[in-house]
Amino acid sequence: MNKTEYITKNFGVSARAVELVNKAESSVREQFGILEEKAEINQLKVMKAFSEFCVSERHFMPTTGYGYDDDGRDTLDKVYAHIFGCDDALVRQNWVNGSHTLSTMMYAVLRPGDTLLSVTGKPYDTLEEVIGIAGDDGNGSLKDFGISYKEISLLNGEPDYENIERALRAEKIKAVMIQRSKGYGWRPTYSPEKIGEIVKFVKDISPETICLVDNCYGEFVDTDEPTQYGADLIAGSLIKNPGGGIAPTGGYIAGRRDLIELCAYRMTCVGIGRECGCTMGFNRYAYQGLFMAPHVTLQALKAATLCAAVFGLLGYESDPKPDAERHDIIQSVKFNDKDKMIAFIQGIQKGAPVDSFVTPEPWDMPGYQDQVIMAAGAFTQGSSIELSADAPLREPYIAYMQGGLTYESAKLGIMVAVNKILKLEK
Ligand SMILES: *Cc1c(COP(=O)(O)O)cnc(C)c1O
Repeated sequence: MNKTEYITKNFGVSARAVELVNKAESSVREQFGILEEKAEINQLKVMKAFSEFCVSERHFMPTTGYGYDDDGRDTLDKVYAHIFGCDDALVRQNWVNGSHTLSTMMYAVLRPGDTLLSVTGKPYDTLEEVIGIAGDDGNGSLKDFGISYKEISLLNGEPDYENIERALRAEKIKAVMIQRSKGYGWRPTYSPEKIGEIVKFVKDISPETICLVDNCYGEFVDTDEPTQYGADLIAGSLIKNPGGGIAPTGGYIAGRRDLIELCAYRMTCVGIGRECGCTMGFNRYAYQGLFMAPHVTLQALKAATLCAAVFGLLGYESDPKPDAERHDIIQSVKFNDKDKMIAFIQGIQKGAPVDSFVTPEPWDMPGYQDQVIMAAGAFTQGSSIELSADAPLREPYIAYMQGGLTYESAKLGIMVAVNKILKLEK
């Protein structure tokens, strides 16, 4: 069978669009090689950890009730800690999303009278209410518990070391927060090494300050994690990279043993900590997802790279550039045109295995100033290691794409998007 013919006939993509995507793909073969090398290293780390802790079928057995002695759960914690090169970890399905996991991490280490300092500017949207810089008084935010918050904005995309130093010298800072991924903002994503520089800077001035990292979207993109560069705690979501598209829910926190114990106390209750929490069959998904994670993250990275390359050929600005070193899975493309951006999102929807027949439309999403349009069609609701894209309807019309369980399916989404945009350009 002829591939181009098949695509043209079955997906309505012009031969020109197929050729353009193929050309872009050829231009990033070398980049793919670099990404594959990193994925292989990460896969080896996962294999080593599975073997080290003798992961076996008994670890997948469901437990109920209190969940005492759930060996699958306790071993999974050790496997994560081994891969992330740190003392200890907690991996649980009870965390409903990344925000919840990050919130547990913050409440675990902060006490009334303490100050939290964000050194990478505004934290992720959903954390604003947790911190208490948004939302009502009396709702149980950190602020409500007498925890102060300070924030140092980035300076041209870089940490503003001068002001960070000033803040650290002005008062005792209990913890600093560092966000690895750019999320949906215009700033660079930081490598674990870069995060290590920030941690070192903080600790040189204030050795007691606890360094917390929002590691969402970053896992397995580099061959090390921030914990290997001195971060005290990192946290993330299992419906992103480390769940490998298989874990149906959950989160993880990894890092220093004494702090992980505090996280366990906050996660359940003081005194009980990690001893309780049945897993009801979750473990098999978490292990299998972790096993898949380096490979699936590679698929997402290849899709992001192809997207940057093809829209580069068409003359659009993308971030990161096709040949840039990546530290998360997010790809943004600036369209400077509303209809083209909408066409892009609608095209990406065709690369989803679920709901590929629907056409996304802009809508008034609660809590957002502008209308938003999203492409998503995932086996796991809201999973963003699966192919997804979203864009607020405002200038300069930037769309964000991430994920893709298989490169081939994501490539189809990109081809359909390119085809739609070429039609608009005529
Ligand atoms: C996804 C994400 C979070 C958490 O979001 P949830 O939707 O609650 O999982 C936090 N920070 C960053 C940078 C993220 O990408």
